[in-house]
Amino acid sequence: MTRALVTGASRGIGAAIAVHLAKAGHDIVLNYRSNDAAAENVQRDIEALGQEAELSKFDVRNGEASAAELARLLEDPRPIGILVNNAGITSDGPFPAMEPGAWHDVISTTLDGFYNVTRPLTMPMVRRKWGRIINIASVSGIRGNRGQANYAAAKAGLIGATKSLAMELAKRRITVNAVAPGLIETDMTSDIASEHILPLIPMRRIGQPEEVASVVAFLASDAASYVTNQVIAVDGGLI
Ligand code: NDP
Repeated sequence: MTRALVTGASRGIGAAIAVHLAKAGHDIVLNYRSNDAAAENVQRDIEALGQEAELSKFDVRNGEASAAELARLLEDPRPIGILVNNAGITSDGPFPAMEPGAWHDVISTTLDGFYNVTRPLTMPMVRRKWGRIINIASVSGIRGNRGQANYAAAKAGLIGATKSLAMELAKRRITVNAVAPGLIETDMTSDIASEHILPLIPMRRIGQPEEVASVVAFLASDAASYVTNQVIAVDGGLI
């Protein structure tokens, strides 16, 4: 079965996605930036499921490091047919006080990350006439969110890239979709006071990483062969 590369797979939603794809029978390439111990835990979980898990530590913002690592991964004869662009960060704050670093880091992780990791894998997918590209966006990228001008811009940009690439690659049996989570319980959201947000969520609870991962696993499967160019919200009905 084809291998899957998941960026930002050491923790949170990315780790859950990697495990779900392993349960579906895929060997996994686990990208992360710095947290070796967390990545090794995910690696062990996947190996316990009987699948391979290769660690691939690089910063998706860094074009040279990404190109070198993708070239190394592509030397393996087993194709990477599934790519999940999940690596993402927040650096929230009121826009007038937003420093250049907060703007650029958030945009670069999402958009340069998408470009740096996706482009090298596209032609191999085109040649094999099969592929699944799933981009983890956010409801912020659809509706905006106070204090998240940088993050919302990054995720809206990712949705635009998703739609364009879906149109370019559809004829080659490569689907490109985005998943837009609402509020999900991970390190990223551990500081958020959920009591202000829960009234906006009809389900009145925060989502779990596995609830995003199961949608990603569906999009990665053969069952989703006619689903492309979509942005699927996983947000408990957020209003
Ligand atoms: P976490 O903060 O829990 O995990 C982030 C992951 O991304 C880690 O594995 C981290 O690696 C990795 N990462 C961060 N920057 C880079 C980089 N430059 N290069 C490579 N890896 C990197 O985040 P979540 O699991 O909460 O979020 C995952 C995705 O889901 C993000 O794109 C986020 O924007 C999106 N999302 C999350 C929501 C939520 O409520 N949690 C809601 C909507 C969208 P390391 O461990 O090494 O630091």
